[in-house]
Amino acid sequence: MLKFLPLGGGNDIGASSYLVQINRFNFLLDAGLRPRSFKNTPKYIKMFELIEDWSQIDAVFISHPHLDHVGSLPKVFEANPNVPIFVPAQSLPLIKMQIYESLTYQKRTKKYAEDYLGVDYSIDLVSNCLSNIKEIEYNKLTKIKKTNVTFEFWPAGHILGSASIFIKTRKGSLVYTGDISTHKRPSIPDLSYPSRKVDLLIMESTYLSSNHDVSPQEGFNQLYLKVKDITKKGNHVLIPSFALGKAQDITKMFVERNKAEDNPVPVYLDGLVKRITRIYSNLLGESMFFSLKDDSCNLISGIHNDVNEYKKFLERHPGIAIISSSGMLLDGSKSARWAEAILPYEGNGLFFTGYLDEESPGAKLLKCLSEKVISLNGENIPLNAYVDRFYISTHSSALELTNIVQIVNPKIVVLVHGNNPVQKVAEFQQKCERKINRKLTILKSINEEIIELGELFE
Ligand SMILES: [Zn+2]
Ligand SMILES: [Zn+2]
Repeated sequence: MLKFLPLGGGNDIGASSYLVQINRFNFLLDAGLRPRSFKNTPKYIKMFELIEDWSQIDAVFISHPHLDHVGSLPKVFEANPNVPIFVPAQSLPLIKMQIYESLTYQKRTKKYAEDYLGVDYSIDLVSNCLSNIKEIEYNKLTKIKKTNVTFEFWPAGHILGSASIFIKTRKGSLVYTGDISTHKRPSIPDLSYPSRKVDLLIMESTYLSSNHDVSPQEGFNQLYLKVKDITKKGNHVLIPSFALGKAQDITKMFVERNKAEDNPVPVYLDGLVKRITRIYSNLLGESMFFSLKDDSCNLISGIHNDVNEYKKFLERHPGIAIISSSGMLLDGSKSARWAEAILPYEGNGLFFTGYLDEESPGAKLLKCLSEKVISLNGENIPLNAYVDRFYISTHSSALELTNIVQIVNPKIVVLVHGNNPVQKVAEFQQKCERKINRKLTILKSINEEIIELGELFE
């Protein structure tokens, strides 16, 4: 018997958490939150409708350290302090940073976020939760005590410390992809899926409906030309970026590209980007990553909350590119502050490189370009800079997703982490069926709706 219940991140992106019940083994895949507020944590209350209490949760598996996959871990730990929490190798320092940062962010945004609910974790709870986490190496089949269940983390090619999770019971097996990318990334292990018999594939589907299939390197090349064009005239560029993963990929691509250029683009890192880049550098070393002493990569320090400090910094440093979090220009973030200093001036540029939540200030900025004014940090900011979007994805394109289905060759696919129209799912199914040369069941998951897959795991 198998039941699958998306508590969040089923037919949307954010707050990923899936409860799976295989016979009497109950486990959670991920425990995320939506970055905007704790209001949007997964609906754990739904879990009580399926099983009686939290002590019946036998394990928690985390695919990677992004907040939309780990942000609710303290909540899970509070409900069941004995539950084993398994995370991929090299992810723990990043999980720690993300959870502590989310606490700081909640406090900072209190004055901006209308939907702030005042939900908070105590520092003791967070540190007890973190000390309970077990890091598991890639490709190491691990047995869960007192069960007949084994699992294995496979490199997922998304960010440092990201994995797909293979879980095998006596009755059957599944793979949860987590967020995945088959494209080569600058500094992390490539996606690698060993050959295993898999009954159920739970697959992210962020870009299943999208037609663009640009490699991260091609996307970066387009971005670099635009950035160079602006900075060589002494103007400034802001690249709001997800602090974890995307920013390190882009920074490394800048550092490498700059080596081949007579007039390199000076890159400055700020916000959480800076601290996470330091963690990448510590975990990977200079040979895999790059030296933080590299001339073309600088870490900004000593700038606080007054927008005039940002403007003065830009006056002192003409022709630079700043990579700063948050990627969606969330109010109160460093990137929103830099945007206040950069957007009013013609000649400057602001370039997005990733996913934008529909309700984020970043998405609103792209929608209201013609209005020449944007509300940021509670202020109306004149909008005269050039704003654009480049695709440097850390997720798989639709084509890559069909390749993954072909490699895993499951009996059934359940799509999560994306809201794709039924028509697009049907087209995707046909493409997969052509590849594997047989019929395949592909199901869309919907938050809070149980999918019964009884016949799979009888
Ligand atoms: Zn992710
Ligand atoms: Zn995600």
